Amino acid sequence: MQYMLALPNGEQIPYHLERRARRTIGMKITANGLVVHAPLRIRQSELETLLLSKARWISTKLQARQSASIPEFQWHDGATLHLLGQPLTLRIIQATRNSSPELAGRELRIATTDPHDHGLIAHKVIQWFKKEARLDFIRRLPILAARLGEPTPSLFLSNARTRWGSCNSRREVRLNWRLIQADPSLVNYVIAHELAHLREMNHSAKFWAVVASIYPEYRQAERDLKACSQQLYLIG
Ligand SMILES: [Zn+2]
Repeated sequence: MQYMLALPNGEQIPYHLERRARRTIGMKITANGLVVHAPLRIRQSELETLLLSKARWISTKLQARQSASIPEFQWHDGATLHLLGQPLTLRIIQATRNSSPELAGRELRIATTDPHDHGLIAHKVIQWFKKEARLDFIRRLPILAARLGEPTPSLFLSNARTRWGSCNSRREVRLNWRLIQADPSLVNYVIAHELAHLREMNHSAKFWAVVASIYPEYRQAERDLKACSQQLYLIG
């Protein structure tokens, strides 16, 4: 039987339940997702309480499984990249000298002496994304800070593997450059989230109330960010 496990953060995890003559509950992650083996008599509510206590383990394992199945990004002509949620087509142009990528309509054009030097192309495109990220984030930061009534904190780009942003007591906000690929609403959300840490250095109810005061749709944004995070980590 297929069921849905609703996590406190709003995420829904489908799972396949098989009841068996056994005493303990077993869980495994398969190509089809989470499979739970449970004793015949255990009540559904009891089972879900137990699954919820293992939610972190389940999410981590599911994510690892998914990322293992995602193919590596191919840096070839015609590949699709994203800038602020909009697709960009990568155009690799054979030329007599290398140059930095340039945006032309919905194309990101890069001229190179060796179109097969994927390492160099990747490096140059990622540099370009970082530059775009800085330009974009530095515009948004004061707008959202003003909404909170806070002076604009210092901005740094981050290259973190596991987080979108951070904020410290020295009023330094770090934002992951990969966010520049995401929809603008998600960039705004992460900035709002980090700015709220200027008031509350924790994730308490008080903190989320501050987030909501400048970004009311934060729950949806959290879900959307989770849903697209693998996509955002495809490059770099
Ligand atoms: Zn936080």
